[in-house]
Amino acid sequence: MKLRFWGVRGSIPSPGPNTVRYGGNTTCLEVRTDAGDIIILDAGTGIFPLSQSLLGEMPLAAHIFITHTHWDHIQGLPFFIPIFVPGNNLRIHGAFDPITQKGIREVLGVQMEYSYFPVREAELKASLEYINVMDHQPVQAGAATVTPVLMNHPVLNFGYRIDCEGKSFFFTGDHEPPANIYSPEDSFYQQYQEMIAQKNEAILDVIRGVDVLVADSSYTPEEYTTGKVGWGHGTYDTSIAIARAAGVKKLFCTHHEPTRRDDKLEAVFAEALARHPRQEGDPEILLAQEGLVVEF
Ligand SMILES: [Zn+2]
Ligand SMILES: [Zn+2]
Repeated sequence: MKLRFWGVRGSIPSPGPNTVRYGGNTTCLEVRTDAGDIIILDAGTGIFPLSQSLLGEMPLAAHIFITHTHWDHIQGLPFFIPIFVPGNNLRIHGAFDPITQKGIREVLGVQMEYSYFPVREAELKASLEYINVMDHQPVQAGAATVTPVLMNHPVLNFGYRIDCEGKSFFFTGDHEPPANIYSPEDSFYQQYQEMIAQKNEAILDVIRGVDVLVADSSYTPEEYTTGKVGWGHGTYDTSIAIARAAGVKKLFCTHHEPTRRDDKLEAVFAEALARHPRQEGDPEILLAQEGLVVEF
C-alpha cells in the first residue's frame, strides 16, 4: 500500500511562506493498493494537485471516501478534474445524515449549484456513483476492503479503515474523543461514562493493529482546554493515546491548525513527544506533511 498526503491543514487553506514546508492545502489523502486501486480520502483543496497528478492515467477508476462534509474536507471536489472527463469512473462514499435526511449526493450537490459553481452537476462527464456508507459495514474498493466507523464530531464523521493484501490503514477524519458532559457527583455520570467507554472501544476495535494511522491532532492540550472542548477535534496527546491503545505501527498527526506556522508546528509536536517518552511497543510518531509518501 502507498499513502500520499495531498492536504494536511484543518479548517481553511493556508498557503504562504509560513506553511510552505508542511503545506497549506486542506485534507486530502491518496491511498494506492499494490493492485493499483486509487482510494481518495476527503476532497479538501489537496484534491486539486492530486487531480493534476492523475491526468496521465485517465480513463481511471477512483474510490472517494468522504469522512464528513465540512468545507475543509469537500471544497476541492468541484475542481477534481477527472469528474469532467468521460470514461472516468468515480464512486463517492459518505454518510447519510438522519438529522438532515440527506445522503452524500444531496450534500455534495449543494456546492455544485449555480450560485456557487459555473458547471452544473449534470454536465460532469465522468460516470459518478454515490454510495451512503453505514457504521461498521465494510464496502469493497477494488482489491481493498474499507470499513467505516462513526467517530465523534459536530456532524456525522466516519473514520475509514482500509485493508488490502495483509496491509492496513486508518484515517480518523475529524475526531474529538468523547468526554463526560456530567460532573462525577451527577447521577448520570456513571451511565455516561459507560456509554463513552463503549463508543471508544467500538472505535479502537476498528483501528486495532493497523500499519498506519492518520489522526486528527489539531490542538495542544492547553489550546483544547481553553475554549476548544466540543469543537470536534483531538490533540497530539489524544492521538498518541489512541495509537498506543490500538497498537498501531505508525501514527501521523494531521489537521494542522491554519494559524500554526511550520516552526511552531514542529515546536508543539516536539513538546508533545516529550510529554510521552517512548515506551516499548510504541508506534513511530510523525507529523503529516503535504507531499509525503509512505509505503507500507
Ligand atoms: Zn476539518
Ligand atoms: Zn469537521
